[in-house]
Amino acid sequence: MFLKRIELLGFKSFADKTIIQFDHDITGIVGPNGCGKSNVNDAIRWVLGEQSTKSLRSGNSMSDIIFSGSEFRKPVNLAKVTLVFDNSSRIFDSPFEEIEITRQIQRSNNEASYFINKTPCRLKDINDLVMDTGLGRDSLSIITQGNISGFADAKPEERRSLFEEAAGVAKYKKRKKVSLQK
Ligand code: ATP
Ligand code: MG
Repeated sequence: MFLKRIELLGFKSFADKTIIQFDHDITGIVGPNGCGKSNVNDAIRWVLGEQSTKSLRSGNSMSDIIFSGSEFRKPVNLAKVTLVFDNSSRIFDSPFEEIEITRQIQRSNNEASYFINKTPCRLKDINDLVMDTGLGRDSLSIITQGNISGFADAKPEERRSLFEEAAGVAKYKKRKKVSLQK
């Protein structure tokens, strides 16, 4: 499974519709300070359900992630981000070749709405869809700078549990623990 494309509109510094195509195994995002590199990472976590405005490096209200204007541009009223995943190996429990997950927010009501393949859904549906793919918002599919130093400083047992999480073993261990308690 891989992220094929991200489409941003009105999210943070991305006032205009911006499409980033991930055509290769590894894609680097480079540019001067403040050009919006970390905003791309924030956008991915936002679509996957991130609710903490602090962790999105934004103001107190979720609508603060909407493009707030610049010297030459007026603010906009809608932020919409879509992640397009390749599902040809059916990693998502869905028959579709591609899975599009969208989150949007309007400045007027401050409420987010979510879509899977353009059909409105709940955040729970997105959580359920991504849960077994290792993609969840707390998963190791997004490794921040803090995670890397944490990993380097971790004790061997802690490091082992990170490997187990990454390899997908941890969820079976958790299920085993739950079933042994019953
Ligand atoms: P660095 O190399 O310093 O890490 P970066 O490329 O990661 O920089 P970001 O943190 O992604 O930069 O982007 C910061 C820019 O995004 C700032 O210029 C900030 O003004 C802009 N920005 C953040 N939120 C909004 C918003 N709601 N509306 C407009 N611009 C925004
Ligand atoms: Mg940055």
